[in-house]
Amino acid sequence: MEGSPLSEMNRRFLLVRRPRGEPVPEDFRLASTPVPQPAPGSFILRNHFASLDPAQRGWMDDRPSYMPPIPLGQPVRATTVGRVHASANPDFAPGDWVLGLNALEDYSIVTPGGFTTKVDVSRLPSPSYLLSALGAVGLTGYFGLLEVGRPQPGETVLVSGAAGAVGSVVGQIARIKGCRTIGIAGGAAKCQRLLHDYHFDVAIDYRGKSVKQLSAEIGAAAGGGVDIIFENVGGEILEAGLNNLAPRARVILCGLISEYNSDEKHGARNLWQLIVKRASIHGFLIMDYVPRFAEGGAQIAAWIGEGRLRIDEHIERGLENAYPAFMKLFSGGNIGKMVLQIA
Ligand code: NDP
Repeated sequence: MEGSPLSEMNRRFLLVRRPRGEPVPEDFRLASTPVPQPAPGSFILRNHFASLDPAQRGWMDDRPSYMPPIPLGQPVRATTVGRVHASANPDFAPGDWVLGLNALEDYSIVTPGGFTTKVDVSRLPSPSYLLSALGAVGLTGYFGLLEVGRPQPGETVLVSGAAGAVGSVVGQIARIKGCRTIGIAGGAAKCQRLLHDYHFDVAIDYRGKSVKQLSAEIGAAAGGGVDIIFENVGGEILEAGLNNLAPRARVILCGLISEYNSDEKHGARNLWQLIVKRASIHGFLIMDYVPRFAEGGAQIAAWIGEGRLRIDEHIERGLENAYPAFMKLFSGGNIGKMVLQIA
């Protein structure tokens, strides 16, 4: 077991108040405590990279979800990748790289179980790839589209949040599978990225547009309707998509980011369209696919190697920047997967 110098401290990004609507800096506090020592069976992980995800906003609320709320006074839960700093577990040696569900803090006490996995980073461009291409983001695109959507060549796939981490992967995989792709994103620059970087057939800027205008633009782009909607945003954007369903369309409900900071959830008001088109809507959670991560990761790595899949990461540095970096997810300030570099 290795110790840590007494002078070293563990900075932790704590949730100290449940946000009302959009989080504000006062909801959080950066605290400094001594680096912990591992108890028998556990180890101390020096976190190098942490994933900043829209889902973390939901974990800050005290309401029923697929995970318990983050307790007040505790660091914000996050998937991290880092190196074992000190160990009292024979299966984890100092220096090993480990991926797991930990927290926004320099050092985490880890008792193996759940997601905790030893990882080989030697052939990756960066260990952060385990949070983007080969992590929940890439795999959400992969399993969500292929297992739930079951795209067929020639079908039309509509993706919202299309320039983001998940959306950009979905659009590219749909294209690999021979589909026509329509992406929705905020602003002209992101729409250019959709066309040039992620090879969408059509890019639609949603900013400043009514449901009616968006519906008309999707309709013009889709022709015979949309066979698959991969929904990352919800609200009016979902509503505009539902107005353009093809018969027997599949709607993959992956995320509703437009509602995460709002107390009043409006949802889509035209679910009737699912009946009209005999369409299905399916809630998706990547956690259900953990046993198949190796399979999906291998395919994604192969596509990246063949130059068929582009992955962008948006790296922000320093735990002290956790709040502004997190908020970029809601203002559209991220280009690619938002990752916080901690070490
Ligand atoms: P992104 O990289 O896509 O970043 C979020 C993007 O959402 C922003 O860049 C912004 O893009 C867009 N956005 C934010 N607020 C709004 C709004 N009010 N209206 C329209 N667009 C908005 O994040 P991720 O790829 O990590 O996540 C995308 C979605 O996937 C989220 O809803 C997330 O919760 C979900 N998700 C679900 C998983 C699951 O298992 N179900 C797993 C992982 C992610 P723009 O500039 O275009 O507005």
